[in-house]
Amino acid sequence: SKKYIATPTRTNEILNKYQFFFKKSLGQNFLVDVNILGNIIREAGIDKQAGVIEIGPGIGALTEQLAIHANNVIAFEIDQRLLPILEDTLDGYDNINLIHQDILEADVHAAIKANFQPEQAIHIVANLPYYITTPILMKLLREKLPIVSITVMIQQEVAARMAAEPNSKSYGSLSIAVQYYTNAKVVMHVPKGVFMPKPNVDSSVLKLTIKDTPPVDVLDEEYFFTLVRAAFAQRRKTLKNNLTNYFKGTFVKEDINMILDSIGVDGARRGESLTMTEFAKLANAFFLRQE
Ligand code: SAM
Repeated sequence: SKKYIATPTRTNEILNKYQFFFKKSLGQNFLVDVNILGNIIREAGIDKQAGVIEIGPGIGALTEQLAIHANNVIAFEIDQRLLPILEDTLDGYDNINLIHQDILEADVHAAIKANFQPEQAIHIVANLPYYITTPILMKLLREKLPIVSITVMIQQEVAARMAAEPNSKSYGSLSIAVQYYTNAKVVMHVPKGVFMPKPNVDSSVLKLTIKDTPPVDVLDEEYFFTLVRAAFAQRRKTLKNNLTNYFKGTFVKEDINMILDSIGVDGARRGESLTMTEFAKLANAFFLRQE
């Protein structure tokens, strides 16, 4: 039987055959360990009925395993050089649709309509290019896609920030942004040795389970996210100081104190101690008092 793509031997053969050189600027670190891929697919909750969207198939290491375990897969790859290689390495699988496109430019809603059945559970699974992890994930979340989960290999430190709870050093506006849309959990840490070439940062697998409805009621989402970012602008400063700075020209100190009092939040606290519920109250209170 033929060897999987996700092995050092097979990967080297493919790289040599096509004289492929890695582009660091595209975050190309390919997985060469089938066990890790099996774990990712199990954590993602993929079954034979599932529809899967992959971002950045590379030479097809993860794509192949997804094709084996799911009903069908669509994969967005930005690097034109990889398209003919993927045609070759994934020859023999008839349930994969390769799309040559920058995921940040892609109409994912349309791709879902065109490739999946309405009754299929759809999951996103990827070993992401680390240089654009946050833009990719925030695009996918903001677009409110009809998906069940997103399971991704990303930089360990970014995974920790996305899954962080209040009062921890990783907690910040990114935690709130991600957890507004999902339940976020770091499901495993991954050693550098399973990649070719080895990345110079540590990696984790993050699972995001999409929430049916937002966990808090906010009057204006953009206003809420902007205010959260303002509260963390200078981490060591108090909430009151960060807000005073942010609202210069809109609200004076006395207004800010009054609004904080009205919702029962102590301005001497730091942003990192506020829960999402408290941030929602805060944003709604300021939103209502704008002119
Ligand atoms: N999935 C493969 C694996 O696990 O071996 C490759 C993962 S590699 C970390 C990231 C992949 O994303 C590369 O193939 C890269 O060319 C691709 N990529 C980078 N930027 C992209 C973008 N904006 N849209 C789609 N793919 C992109």
